[in-house]
Amino acid sequence: MSIGPKQMLELGKLAKQFDFGKLAKLSQKVDLGELMEVASNLDAATLKTMMKMAKAGKVEKDLPEVNGDFYDIASTFTPEQREFQMTIRKFMEEEVKPLINENYQNDTFPRELFDKIRDLKLIDAVYTPEGERTADAAIMEGIATMEMSRIDVSTAVGFGVHAGLAMGAVYVGGSEEQKAHWMPKLRNLETIAAFGLTEPKVGSGTAGGLTTTCRREGNTWVLNGQKKWIGNSTFADVVIIWAREKTIDKTHEDNGKVRGFIVETKNIGYSVEKIMGKTAMRMVENGLITLTDCKVTEDHRLQNIESFKDVAVVLRLTRAGVAWQGAGCAMGAYEIALKYAQERQQFGRAIGNFQLIQDKLVTMLGNVTAMQTMCLRLSHMQDEGKMADEHASLAKVYCAKRCRESVALARDLHGGNGILMEYDVARFFNDAEAIYSYEGTNEMNTLVVGKAITGFSAFV
Ligand SMILES: Cc1cc2nc3c(=O)[nH]c(=O)nc-3n(C[C@H](O)[C@H](O)[C@H](O)COP(=O)(O)OP(=O)(O)OC[C@H]3O[C@@H](n4cnc5c(N)ncnc54)[C@H](O)[C@@H]3O)c2cc1C
Repeated sequence: MSIGPKQMLELGKLAKQFDFGKLAKLSQKVDLGELMEVASNLDAATLKTMMKMAKAGKVEKDLPEVNGDFYDIASTFTPEQREFQMTIRKFMEEEVKPLINENYQNDTFPRELFDKIRDLKLIDAVYTPEGERTADAAIMEGIATMEMSRIDVSTAVGFGVHAGLAMGAVYVGGSEEQKAHWMPKLRNLETIAAFGLTEPKVGSGTAGGLTTTCRREGNTWVLNGQKKWIGNSTFADVVIIWAREKTIDKTHEDNGKVRGFIVETKNIGYSVEKIMGKTAMRMVENGLITLTDCKVTEDHRLQNIESFKDVAVVLRLTRAGVAWQGAGCAMGAYEIALKYAQERQQFGRAIGNFQLIQDKLVTMLGNVTAMQTMCLRLSHMQDEGKMADEHASLAKVYCAKRCRESVALARDLHGGNGILMEYDVARFFNDAEAIYSYEGTNEMNTLVVGKAITGFSAFV
């Protein structure tokens, strides 16, 4: 092909734009002749697209997959556990995720989620039809909690209050007849349950300080008092209520016993008011329950509960679950942050290119990985019957703290967008605050571990 005078002129203009110094350097790295030959064979459209991408500094590159399970803890799961994990992941991503932000902002829990959980038979992995715990119940609870919290902590809490705390109370405290009656209804979510321990004036000090009372009158118990923060209580069919017993003689003195009751919310004397104005876990409906001479028959009293020590057994059963919530919450926030770092452009490149951003991501990933591996070991110990209070408390303290740090970094990495609901990290950031305070505050769980390792009780 011969070049005419016009093309020669154009080539001349183009050559003036060349930086020959840079070209010389480049030629040491690539075969420029070969590159030009390849380029000359490209059609005009492809050439134009490549030029555009090069100008914008956006040469497409295969980026590593976003994966919050860096040490592949899923590879330690049995095929059944893996399938369970994937079922929940699909459910959370496809059915729950689209509902979260609207419900969160309206302080409502979408009740239909319980129907979906029933259809998926999630509780069957934890309790048998006879109401016994399955051999790997703690691992299954951990997987469910992590997967739910990875997308939304409120969903994990709504599920956990029913399947963990309330079912745990019936499992630990119920007689054989009570278990036979209630566990199947709870297992298939025909009956939705809540767990009422905390009171307006008594939180950390419930062990010795419950003010809600129960008094026996023949075959009936009369309950009086208030319970605060009770998740699911605005729509539950039953609430497990913990109360101190007053003697049946005329003195009505405290006899030191703590009793548990399965209170049906349709009972006269039971009322509940939804707690509004929360800044965390807004999709969970927490209630302030008032019991005014609320009558409950003896067959609704948990027959194997005599003291707060029995309540502590229930709390021990579920405390590992709160640690898993921290792991899942931080995992979700980390994955969102990593994706954002790969996409968000500043100074002409994705912010994931910056060293300070990578430092935040690595800190988050270290936290998430440490939490996952700690929780996994804890749940194995629980299933093996080797978990003591201090083991669960250490995981709760550690995971709540590391979760709080991780979600704050994820929020920060999003800049201004980090406070917008649509980017999801703000919700994780707020929810971590509740994880930090419930099921034993950071201080209470620290004191449990402190006592176990030093031999000295620092409780006051
Ligand atoms: C979103 C959410 C959901 C909840 N769901 C339920 C539920 O379903 N059922 C239920 O029964 N409860 C529920 N709770 C209540 C929760 O368990 C309590 O909030 C928790 O036990 C702490 O009690 P408190 O809020 O009264 O804090 P307080 O006990 O008043 O503690 C205030 C601060 O004092 C510290 N403190 C207290 N005593 C000591 C001490 N001896 N030494 C050092 N520090 C101390 C605490 O650690 C904390 O930092 C929920 C709470 C929240 C936020």
